[in-house]
Amino acid sequence: MRITGEWLATRATQRVLHLLTEAGYEGYAVGGCVRNALIGVPVTDVDIATNARPKTVMALAVDAGLRAVPTGLDHGTVTIVAEGEGFEVTTFRRDVETYGRHATIAFADHMHEDAARRDFTMNALYARADGTVLDPLGGGLADLAARRVRFVGDATARIREDYLRILRFFRFHAQYGDATAGIDPEALAACAAGADGMDKLSAERITAELRRLLAAPDPAPAVAAMAQAGVLAHVLPGGDHRALGVLVHLEDGLEPAWLRRLAVVGGSTERLRLTRREARDLLRLRAAIETQQGPAELGYRLGAELGSSALLVRAALLETPLPPDWQARVKRGAVAQFPVRASDLPHLDGPDLGAELRRLEARWIASDFRLDKAALLG
Ligand code: ATP
Ligand code: MG
Repeated sequence: MRITGEWLATRATQRVLHLLTEAGYEGYAVGGCVRNALIGVPVTDVDIATNARPKTVMALAVDAGLRAVPTGLDHGTVTIVAEGEGFEVTTFRRDVETYGRHATIAFADHMHEDAARRDFTMNALYARADGTVLDPLGGGLADLAARRVRFVGDATARIREDYLRILRFFRFHAQYGDATAGIDPEALAACAAGADGMDKLSAERITAELRRLLAAPDPAPAVAAMAQAGVLAHVLPGGDHRALGVLVHLEDGLEPAWLRRLAVVGGSTERLRLTRREARDLLRLRAAIETQQGPAELGYRLGAELGSSALLVRAALLETPLPPDWQARVKRGAVAQFPVRASDLPHLDGPDLGAELRRLEARWIASDFRLDKAALLG
């Protein structure tokens, strides 16, 4: 099996891989890039695995005139910058001892050890600089072809080493799994049995996975399975997955937005670490559910993107149809500019001024943005 792709053929990738192999070490593209190349999904970042130890990787890069940054030396990772692009080069590792949060690792000399500590067989694929694919575990290629997300080794044991793998299981299922084949009942049972262990995970790690899960084209089947396995309650306590499928249907090919999906599932965000902006937008989406604001008003108040999301979230949760031409109407509202300024009302100030501006704005919105300044003030 051989893969091709701009990401692999590019001078930068070839330089980094050859840097290792020409010095007598092994060097492979690994994980997501190989998986995605095999199934025709765009490759965003290229991770590299090698048997060279981090200090050697650093020295080889510097000798070749490349910048090398020790980004995660204790994890064995050096970032090499070639042609302006960063490559994470990680020394082969094996799991030695675990506390259920982060696997403690040691360096390893062989690719099959490195493969054995990875989470899913479809993520344990390696490629040489010439595109030759290596599947050291022997089942990764077949699993990927069947879109089967399968734990490397015993699911229960692997989950006990790192409970984040439960969430990653559903994430990869949403992104790359076969939606029609359903989820492997044995893996699902292992996830259900380990769900309590997720309570010790950091909010950052949970959120990073949830973001990707909910940004998948259709996360609904995976989230339904999470609910069924009792996993959802540990991520979004009180959340309800049932309207998610309706939302995805209403989106009808619109760019996925994880926060829109999160707003529909709802529940507490106590286990998450949202950015300030995400937290604010989520509140605004949830608040819009209670209102009767139409597409144009939502566009005006929230902007085109968030306004569209608010409309979709409300329609999904209330099971109401979307109004005709809603996208154009949201956009029209988003660019509308309220024509009255405070300086147009010189006789008022303080709370009176604010109240009058809001009253006029409401009239203007009710007129579908048609009334101009003269009509509003007249
Ligand atoms: P994406 O394209 O979404 O980034 P990815 O496969 O690169 O997919 P990452 O989360 O970036 O996913 O992880 C990179 C690789 O590291 C994975 O392919 C997997 O082999 C390994 N890995 C990451 N996290 C874990 C984990 N918790 N347990 C075991 N292996 C892991
Ligand atoms: Mg990645």
